[in-house]
Amino acid sequence: MLFDFDGPVCSVFAGFPAPTVAYRLRMSLEERTGKRLDLTPSQAEDPLEVLRLAPTLLGLDLARVADDLLTTAETTAADSASPTPGGDSSLRASAATGRRVAIVSNNSGAAVLEYLRKYNLLHLVGDAVVGRAYGKPHLMKPDPRPIEAALRLLGVEPNAAVLVGDPVTDIEASRAAGVACIGYANKGVFEVNRAWLVGGPLGCSRSVIVGVG
Ligand SMILES: [Mg+2]
Repeated sequence: MLFDFDGPVCSVFAGFPAPTVAYRLRMSLEERTGKRLDLTPSQAEDPLEVLRLAPTLLGLDLARVADDLLTTAETTAADSASPTPGGDSSLRASAATGRRVAIVSNNSGAAVLEYLRKYNLLHLVGDAVVGRAYGKPHLMKPDPRPIEAALRLLGVEPNAAVLVGDPVTDIEASRAAGVACIGYANKGVFEVNRAWLVGGPLGCSRSVIVGVG
């Protein structure tokens, strides 16, 4: 069982809003470079999009600086993250029924570990925590390599695994890795995503979308 972190397990930025984190990261990077990071409004509010696009738009040497800044913010945010209803019990039930469990996240591994320790969940995953590759935001999901790394840690083949993740990048990543996906739709996008995924460009016959709220 592979779980994305932000969404299926918790809301990382519940107490430290993502747009604020994204704004501070963007301001820091712009001050360092003296250049403006030209983003769309939705990109500008998403810390991971700022991280993903900053090296391309401001210079490749910024990738590690940006990762360090965001990791600091994420580990702070993890302390005030809001557990997803059913998230911890899903992790516990997976482990209790003999399934090996991993976390595969675009957040930093440090932030994931911080949260798992705080809520006494770390023993359920052991060392099977795959955060984003340091300074390499182009390797975040939807790139399949984080999922492949988790499969190696668990010692399981793709066709024996399932990822619980947020549409849409997690579903794209799981499809590319050959892993089935349970899409956790928590933002009122259930019908849209179901139509798009099943009949749309991804054609995910092995995916299930679960709507909440
Ligand atoms: Mg997520």
